Amino acid sequence: MIPLSVMITGKGTVSTRIKGRYHRGRPSRFTSIIRPVVFWNITYKCNLRCQHCYINAGPDVSLPELSFSQTLDVARQIVEHGIPLVVFTGGEPLVSEKFWKTLEYFHEIGKPKTSVSTNGTLIDHRNAKRLKKLGITYVGISLDSLDPEKHDKFRGAKGAWKAAVNGMKNSVAAGLPTGLRVTVTTGNIEEVPSMIDFSADLGLQRISIYLLDTVGRGAKIISHVPRGEMLRELIDKLVEKAREYDGVLEILLVRMNFAGIYLADKLSSHRQEFYEYLELLGSQGDCGRKTASIYPDGTVRPCQFIDYVIVGDLRRQSLQEILSPDNPRLKPFIDTASRLRGTKCRSCPFKDVCGGGSRNRALTATGDFWGDDPACFINPAEIAERWKS
Ligand code: SF4
Ligand code: SF4
Repeated sequence: MIPLSVMITGKGTVSTRIKGRYHRGRPSRFTSIIRPVVFWNITYKCNLRCQHCYINAGPDVSLPELSFSQTLDVARQIVEHGIPLVVFTGGEPLVSEKFWKTLEYFHEIGKPKTSVSTNGTLIDHRNAKRLKKLGITYVGISLDSLDPEKHDKFRGAKGAWKAAVNGMKNSVAAGLPTGLRVTVTTGNIEEVPSMIDFSADLGLQRISIYLLDTVGRGAKIISHVPRGEMLRELIDKLVEKAREYDGVLEILLVRMNFAGIYLADKLSSHRQEFYEYLELLGSQGDCGRKTASIYPDGTVRPCQFIDYVIVGDLRRQSLQEILSPDNPRLKPFIDTASRLRGTKCRSCPFKDVCGGGSRNRALTATGDFWGDDPACFINPAEIAERWKS
């Protein structure tokens, strides 16, 4: 995750409230390899059926899930292990009674911090107040377009846009820090700057911009991944937007770590500055490195984007055992850089910081999980040359 606004203005909104102040010269220590942010995909059920859903969720999906008592046991382990933040996701968390019960449990104990990633369609006034009362620190709501018809088509449900925007309004009205999450494709990339204005007008405090990843149903639409100049132009526009909404709305980039290197190069005026940016970027987590994803059935994956690799199973193992850096199944994701073997990534001087972009896009495009991410638009050698001593 690239904290674009923090890199540009030195200020975050939601992220600062969750992690404390961090910026260039002061990287965050909020998470660590053994105490990652946990993304808890609490259910496979969802009231929508989106084209790009990485978990293949839907209303009629019926796959094995943890029972109530197993769920609460996992929650207890999360507390004991000192996980700093749980991001509830799904499926749609709000359809699941297990979500509400677990949230109540965490709230009673007073830790960890919690946030929710949701399609927003079920956040009426009552649920917004309930989330607020249960101490949710952030609500991230997905919206793919400013055009309701386009969003509804992408999301596979008529009325989804209106319901999501109402969810945002209700969430803001309840005093919940709220943000918009958008998955960027070739079909909506032009809209992103306007979506930032739209978010600010609604009183949202964050926009998280995900580059389309080729996992789940997203694997069928790799041609929709914006690349090269298109992506670079977007990031240049975002730099302007971050300045415009300085301290009001923060912009995060997800699934495009190479954009962090691009920004470090673009923003630095001297060598020390460039390396401080790299340190800030290196302190952020990535799939399996300072993040873990618990699936509805209790299996643990490096993150919700690499769902086809299982690094442990909470029905048979403890959380502590799974999150150990000695776990052989987790190791490749902690130390991704040494495994990269695509021509561009393996020789990249920034691979320790970047981690090679998305392994899914590499796999879909090259057939090699450790190959090059085709979306990386930077020239690493040229950048390294500019900042060498
Ligand atoms: S709302 Fe989210 S979980 Fe539900 S189908 Fe869409 S992408 Fe999947
Ligand atoms: S070449 Fe690979 S490791 Fe280097 S910045 Fe691009 S994606 Fe990251």
